Amino acid sequence: MNRPVYLDYNATAVTKPGVKDAVAAATAKGGNPSSVHGIGRAARTLVDEAREQVAALASVKPEQVIFTSGGTEANNQALRCAGAKSLVISRIEHDSVIGGAYAAGVPVYEIPVDGEGVVKLDELADLLEEAEKPALVSVMLANNESGVIQPVKKVAVIAREHGALVHTDAVQAAGKIKFSFTDLGADLVTLSAHKIGGLPGAGAVIFREGFTLSPLIVGGGQERGYRSGTENLAGIVGFGKAAELALKDFEKNKKIKELRDYLEKEVRAVSNRVRIFGAGAARLPNTSLLTMPGTASETQVMALDLNGICVSSGAACSSGKVKASHVLKAMNVADDEAGSAIRVSLGWGSTKADVEAFLAAWGRLYQRLHAGEKANA
Ligand code: PLP
Repeated sequence: MNRPVYLDYNATAVTKPGVKDAVAAATAKGGNPSSVHGIGRAARTLVDEAREQVAALASVKPEQVIFTSGGTEANNQALRCAGAKSLVISRIEHDSVIGGAYAAGVPVYEIPVDGEGVVKLDELADLLEEAEKPALVSVMLANNESGVIQPVKKVAVIAREHGALVHTDAVQAAGKIKFSFTDLGADLVTLSAHKIGGLPGAGAVIFREGFTLSPLIVGGGQERGYRSGTENLAGIVGFGKAAELALKDFEKNKKIKELRDYLEKEVRAVSNRVRIFGAGAARLPNTSLLTMPGTASETQVMALDLNGICVSSGAACSSGKVKASHVLKAMNVADDEAGSAIRVSLGWGSTKADVEAFLAAWGRLYQRLHAGEKANA
């Protein structure tokens, strides 16, 4: 078999070569950034550089960046440590936001989405009328399953009118669409290294200057007390490099979008019963959440895997368990249709040949299972 065709960048991006080099160099140097000796000071310099690189990606000052163990921890800190008396989250948030919100011990309100998977702003305003004050609103910048981009700027304006704080999970959006922290009007933003070509196990919560955020993890007082624990030097250095490369490589998203659009055009040519979720809304350039009508997601994922093609089931899958996607449920998609969705997500290493390989295998599976049906019926 040829090399695997990896089309699952939203699960984790392929680590960029420049990141591997930077990580290898940092690991070779080693050191604890809190140590006062030379090796410790050199490690501190590397962490400081990475902080500048990550800050540049979000257009903030380095002091606004707190390194965490990843997006999950950053989301938990944002939701549980901002001092909010209630939380208003969208129904399509990542499990780390939903889980973090319900663990916070304050009332949680859920903002519905429309059929394209975009938050309903009028409902947000209504929820904020009843929510205990100060509320914190958390709406992701782009959804991990559908790629649908959320109107976070407008969310922030409505939140401010109600004296609410604003958090956005920008884990999937970072590197794929341009954004500036100030422009979004948020108090808190979450990032994760491994979605932009860094390593898993590193992320950041970014906060507005002057914002009061408590630590989620206490101990040695690293990260100026915002996040204790010896810094993950390799992960943080890799994150910094990935952030730098994300900015440098930004224009490549155009090419990725062309490939994604071509893929969607071709699957639609196989059957006009194929549904592409969120296609009517603004979406990330790399993501396609599409159905093969009447064929279970897992059947498609397994058949594609046998052909060396890696994609995800549209249903959220964690620890090997497949459960109905809460995102598609929130979009009011019927269970059988939701159960036939797969997520194809491209990235910096994706090629036309990868897309062709996907289309050939997906097309063969479709013909095998739907033989006898009229094409485009
Ligand atoms: N938020 C979103 C939107 C994600 O897609 C993910 C990962 O899938 C996370 C948060 C969690 O990030 P991490 O894997 O770094 O914990």
